Amino acid sequence: SPQTLSTDIAIVGAGPTALFAAFQCGMLKLKSILIDALDSVGGQCTALYPEKPIYDIPAHPAIEGGALIAALEAQIAPFDVPRLLGSRVEKLTGHRGDFQLTTARGDIIHAKAVIIAAGAGAFGPNRPPLQGLEEYEQTGAIQYYVKKRSDFAGKRIVIAGGGDSALDWALSLSDIAEHIYLLHRRDRFRGAPETLSRIESQIQKGRIEKVVPYQLHALHGSGGALSHVEVSTLSGETRNLEADTLLPFYGLSTDLGPIALWGINTHRSTVPVTPATLETNIPGVFAIGDIATYPGKLKLILQGFSEAAMAVHASHAIIHPDTALHFEYSTSKGVPG
Ligand code: FAD
Repeated sequence: SPQTLSTDIAIVGAGPTALFAAFQCGMLKLKSILIDALDSVGGQCTALYPEKPIYDIPAHPAIEGGALIAALEAQIAPFDVPRLLGSRVEKLTGHRGDFQLTTARGDIIHAKAVIIAAGAGAFGPNRPPLQGLEEYEQTGAIQYYVKKRSDFAGKRIVIAGGGDSALDWALSLSDIAEHIYLLHRRDRFRGAPETLSRIESQIQKGRIEKVVPYQLHALHGSGGALSHVEVSTLSGETRNLEADTLLPFYGLSTDLGPIALWGINTHRSTVPVTPATLETNIPGVFAIGDIATYPGKLKLILQGFSEAAMAVHASHAIIHPDTALHFEYSTSKGVPG
């Protein structure tokens, strides 16, 4: 049920950058709340690549997306940061020192400052326009991300799309699936030569079956269980593929969603900020991580971490206008909490 909460800093998003901002708030004794449209924290790392290793997190030669998020959660655990998950922030009103955020569920958050760490905005997969899609999405017969590879062992899978994700997952799952149909509306796939030759070799071995040039046409099954996927050519010839799982990889749509309606200057789905403070054109509203842009910006997690620290320091004066913030090392503060 909807909640009404009050805090110092409301953080829109709960991706890696947002989690580190919550840590920085804790270190400066500021209260914060994390709000995310998704059901779990971690942003792209959790939703898109929990089992993929990242190689450019400082001091981690390799760390999987999911493990990075678990470590960030452990780092903020001493601070008990409330989380409102599964509901998108729809509205932001008010001014520096007194903001109000409203979620789709009707939660209301009062905050003195706002940090927007919303990544690519309300990102989501491009979904194929097929009848009855939702029913199969709910049962997991249709999925847009491979969260756990082992869930696909022994399955008959239709993988749709001609880009890197489709090819990489076709290869990766071809070892454990019973059968893989690789569906594309063109004859040719877009991929690295090495990937294409590995695909070719799996086709030779009968582990992958190429279905081109076809596109998705209809879903057949009952009670959310898929029995076959009907595909068609541009000229209307159809074919039925016996399958229990469909993985469409048609890319992600990056839509700022409601954020574009809050009076914040935007530029091509990003938010320009003052680099020294990460403040947007609205005083008291900051933007960090993938959504923030300025000259020299790198869309990397490590840069988001640094932006989180700078934005939280800059917002301290809004919450405690009469107390100067003296810079301190974490080592001189003792154990967080
Ligand atoms: P995100 O992780 O995008 O999180 C934003 C969150 O905000 C989302 O959970 C979203 O649901 C939420 N949100 C958006 N709008 C709203 C709203 N209105 N209300 C509530 N919630 C909202 N980076 C690296 O540094 N190294 C790598 O090796 C690397 N590899 C990658 C591999 C892949 C396959 C992908 C897709 C990305 C990779 N990245 C990598 C990029 C990295 O994941 C992003 O830079 C990082 O996730 C950005 O973090 P963020 O916190 O800014 O935003």
